[in-house]
Amino acid sequence: MGRYTGPVCKLCRREGMKLYLKGEKCYSDKCPYDRRPYPPGQHGRRRAKLTQYAKQLRAKQAMKRMYGIMERQFRRYFEKAQKMKGDTRENLVTLVESRLDNVVYRLGFAMSRNQARQLVNHGHFLVNGKKVDIPSYLLRPGDVVEVKEKSRSIEPIKNAIEFNSGRDIMPWLEADYDNFKGTYLRYPKLSEVRDLPVNVQDIIEFYSR
Ligand code: SF4
Repeated sequence: MGRYTGPVCKLCRREGMKLYLKGEKCYSDKCPYDRRPYPPGQHGRRRAKLTQYAKQLRAKQAMKRMYGIMERQFRRYFEKAQKMKGDTRENLVTLVESRLDNVVYRLGFAMSRNQARQLVNHGHFLVNGKKVDIPSYLLRPGDVVEVKEKSRSIEPIKNAIEFNSGRDIMPWLEADYDNFKGTYLRYPKLSEVRDLPVNVQDIIEFYSR
């Protein structure tokens, strides 16, 4: 599946929010968004009033980019969320949050979702004891994600654990860094995903047009 390979910091500036795509740099004073919090380009500083459509489009782009999901797959998540029982907004968040690459990142085994995707692709993780190398693999409550024994000493994983040890993780996850494991305890609620900087209703309306 294709993925965006251009300069990622531009995406944060375009969306007007920090999307945390660069790992450690995002938490440092080198973050370009903190330095220049306006869209890139010649007219970036002009403040234009967004139309309803533009607002919905920007929300969709921001969420997609934050989770590193391409348009086709993101739309598929929306269609699946619509068919599931309950609130489509909650369902959409459940689907993207349950992706293995996202959980690896949230557990602190990678510094960004991009890096998590790569690490999963390279076969460094087990789910319930079995190798899974598909970043979009959807986890279920109770699933245990584990760093493969041979991969425990590789730099990106060691560095990420060192950086994330002692930091808070999301309440629907449990990390056990001593044993290089983490558990997906339950599906999250939309209101708990505190770093999601968009109104998910705008995205539902965008795709329902
Ligand atoms: Fe770049 Fe991270 Fe800052 Fe976004 S939050 S601009 S990805 S350093």
